[in-house]
Amino acid sequence: MIPVQGYEGARVAVLGLGRSGLATAAALKAGGAEPVLWDDSPEARAKAEAAGYSCTDLTRQGAFDGIAGLITSPGIAHLYPRPNPVIAAAMAAGVPVDNDIGLFFRSWATAGWDEFDVTPRSVCITGSNGKSTTTALIHHILQHAGRPTQMAGNIGRGVLDLDPPVDGEVVVLELSSYQTDLARALTPDIAVFTNLSPDHMDRHSGMGGYFAAKRRLFAEGAPDRAVIGIDEPEGVYLANQMAMGREDDRVIRVSAAKKLGDFGWSVFARKGFLAEWRKGRQVASIDLRGVKALPGAHNHQNACAAYAACRSLGLAPKLIEEAFHSFGGLPHRSQTIAEKRGVRYVNDSKATNVDSAAKALEAFRNIRWIVGGMGKEGGVASLKPLLGTVKKTYFIGHSGRDFALELAPLDHEICETMERAVARAAAEAEPGDTVLLAPAAASFDQYPNFEKRGEHFTALAQALPD
Ligand code: ADP
Repeated sequence: MIPVQGYEGARVAVLGLGRSGLATAAALKAGGAEPVLWDDSPEARAKAEAAGYSCTDLTRQGAFDGIAGLITSPGIAHLYPRPNPVIAAAMAAGVPVDNDIGLFFRSWATAGWDEFDVTPRSVCITGSNGKSTTTALIHHILQHAGRPTQMAGNIGRGVLDLDPPVDGEVVVLELSSYQTDLARALTPDIAVFTNLSPDHMDRHSGMGGYFAAKRRLFAEGAPDRAVIGIDEPEGVYLANQMAMGREDDRVIRVSAAKKLGDFGWSVFARKGFLAEWRKGRQVASIDLRGVKALPGAHNHQNACAAYAACRSLGLAPKLIEEAFHSFGGLPHRSQTIAEKRGVRYVNDSKATNVDSAAKALEAFRNIRWIVGGMGKEGGVASLKPLLGTVKKTYFIGHSGRDFALELAPLDHEICETMERAVARAAAEAEPGDTVLLAPAAASFDQYPNFEKRGEHFTALAQALPD
């Protein structure tokens, strides 16, 4: 745990008592503060009480008298579509609102760091897609290189749950737009921006707010090194803003679409090969085509971002290449979960938006595509140009029929359930086909979350006869 600094003897409110909320309460206590806990959900309060905390109603009049700060969870809206009433009350009372990421950055460095030979460093990853994969990959490469490293944030454990750093450690943090939007301190040593596509529009009041939230990691954080995917205009703009000029190698530009030779430092992937260029010359190249856990151009983008971050930390290309091959991948992201009778089954249940589903469709051929769930704003019609590699589509879930209309004409079946979709796809598949779950929709109509949806698909595919 990282004891929170700067609130000794103060009463600090914590709103939202999920995993990160409880870790925050413990870290505040360890730092000598008195946490004052609340969650709108009685179940969450019961859990906190079972963990030995008492709860105080922060919705009551005057609840913020004598409170030095409010720490909120990422799932709770602080501005759009409208502020949660507790957060609104704190702001009206002039109480600073922050989150666990802000507390982490004000608390991570301690006087004990003077004893270290090599100062610990942080690598923070943000972007619309590929954050978890890139974060896990960087962590894996560092482990492979024998470097002390821990991973946290939007993946695995909360940041305040990390162990205090050891000499030379690198912490790798995945940060969502909700987290970067609110954190009052954000000081990454290396900041990574993977890409940008519309998501969470309600929480950021549109694309501009969404990009502004992610941009804070760079603009407020002033990292020593910025690794920036420039396959969208926002990335091009961000890289331009961060660099003094074309030769400035504090910015590493990354692309999975085009050759980038003319900059101080760049890493790009084309036709399955990663290339690193410095000052107009190629310095390294890696064949990504045989890297099992990173299929498709989207994963090559993640590989480039992870490579750039690790090169910034001084690791050798050869070592990074070895680590690519030993990376196991993350569950529910372009994950091959079965091979039955020459047919591959790929679980990409995390493809909850159109952009990530598009990447999955581009990564495979002869696809039998299982798609649908709770559709998002904007629909799926933009996937139409990508249907050339799809042999047949099996629609599931609440939005299945709407999706079928939007994507028509195409060879398809309305299956409603995952059971039927897997059974029908398996019955019709020929050797060399890929049965791909890439729903382009949220899971909440039929499952508690995307993990459960992916697990269901996996269990059904693995139970098919060999
Ligand atoms: P995040 O943590 O940003 O949600 P993940 O690594 O969990 O990212 O991947 C989320 C989804 O996006 C998965 O469906 C995955 O296959 C897809 N994906 C992964 N990397 C990228 C990328 N660079 N661009 C677009 N989609 C991606």
